[in-house]
Amino acid sequence: MLAPRPLVRLDSIDACLPQTQCQRCGYADCRAYAEAMHSGDALINRCPPGGDATREALAALLNQPSVSLADDVDGYAAEHVALIDEAACIGCAACLPPCPTDAIIGASKRMHTVIAAECTGCELCIIACPVDCISLVPVTTPANCVHASLAERASQSAMLRDRYDAHKRRLLERVEAKAEAHAPKVAPDKKTLLADILARAKART
Ligand code: SF4
Ligand code: SF4
Ligand code: SF4
Repeated sequence: MLAPRPLVRLDSIDACLPQTQCQRCGYADCRAYAEAMHSGDALINRCPPGGDATREALAALLNQPSVSLADDVDGYAAEHVALIDEAACIGCAACLPPCPTDAIIGASKRMHTVIAAECTGCELCIIACPVDCISLVPVTTPANCVHASLAERASQSAMLRDRYDAHKRRLLERVEAKAEAHAPKVAPDKKTLLADILARAKART
């Protein structure tokens, strides 16, 4: 446990992270990792996509020495994108909800395809696919190209954050629509029913 950082803004910590939302750090997304650093629960060396630029920026912001990437963090294949073997895809759609940028298109029971320009290569779809028909291939895109500094990466990070926010909104809307469709229909009370009958009778005369 480290000391909490109440004097450093959570947004400033989050701004050092690349917004790839790949979960390599061990947290649900970049914001959750930023919160863990802010509260003193996590070290600054758990973000592989952020590279040296992120660790150095966090070290300067939090007034700590820069450290190398933690040993227990999985590697990250920079400048790769996911490719679906469309002949093997069963159209189960399991890869859609985990994709932070909504880079996969396809309807249920139809083959799915990755829009390479929007793919970060985070591999979350690969973990979700039940038939193992997604692999990574080396392709550099605006969503995954490596930048040497936070300033150069700023527009890419902003784009990825926007896409992730939109993704979360879409998931929430889907959950709410499902809940509404399954909600028990409440019968109108007697007074409302009577008023409705009278109104309709009046309209007919
Ligand atoms: S990009 Fe870095 S901070 Fe964001 S989820 Fe991946 S490892 Fe965690
Ligand atoms: S398509 Fe797969 S690898 Fe690419 S961003 Fe989406 S989940 Fe990540
Ligand atoms: S999870 Fe795999 S099999 Fe299912 S739709 Fe996605 S790519 Fe196809």
